[in-house]
Amino acid sequence: MIRLNQVHKSYAIGRNRMEVLKGIDMHIKEGELVSIMGSSGSGKSTLLNILGILDNYDSGEYHLNNILIRNLSQTKAAQLRNKFLGFVFQSFNLLAFKNAIENVALPLYYQKVSRKERNKIALEYLDKVGLKDWAHHLPSEMSGGQKQRVAIARALIGKPKVIFADEPTGALDSATSSEVMAIFKEVNKQGITVVIVTHEHDISAMTDRIIRLKDGLIINE
Ligand code: ADP
Ligand code: MG
Repeated sequence: MIRLNQVHKSYAIGRNRMEVLKGIDMHIKEGELVSIMGSSGSGKSTLLNILGILDNYDSGEYHLNNILIRNLSQTKAAQLRNKFLGFVFQSFNLLAFKNAIENVALPLYYQKVSRKERNKIALEYLDKVGLKDWAHHLPSEMSGGQKQRVAIARALIGKPKVIFADEPTGALDSATSSEVMAIFKEVNKQGITVVIVTHEHDISAMTDRIIRLKDGLIINE
């Protein structure tokens, strides 16, 4: 599903370049529930942005579903993201002035699905994450855990093959974190590959496999 071969990535810092990923080799199979674990600044978000086709890399190869992902046009990248990928972020990234159902339905709005149809489907997805009764509430009326469940429902509505989550429990207490992880496990059971970036040991311990990132390389994998 996801295969990286000697992927390098550096950022320009003034006249210099800082190498963040120094030759990443990685293979994630379809249907896996994995975490990418590393301390702050180890390059986790950089790696996840590459995996999510949100950023380019300098050299090496990244294959997603046997498609070589390299120097794609914005349009092609967006097509592949819409077809294969769902995203969940630490800060939820919900629209503040839209209620839960409208937030979940947003990807369908961009696919030009009618309002009636997309709200119907969005409600089904809210139900899947246990928030049917919160459909008409704004994010400001919800707890962190509820907001993240809305974000997960929004990621699922596009029927992705893979969900990428960047520190999805970073803003949650540990009980709520476990609830959110339980939803990821449930999602994974339905056959969706789930990749969770975290710096927390107890979060990575809830996944089936831990990929450790240190100093721009993957260790003991
Ligand atoms: P993590 O998510 O593991 O905390 P990041 O991938 O965000 O790590 O960052 C890795 C390193 O790359 C850090 O030193 C960070 O400051 C640097 N970095 C990240 N994004 C950029 C950028 N757009 N420009 C310059 N440096 C960056
Ligand atoms: Mg990060």
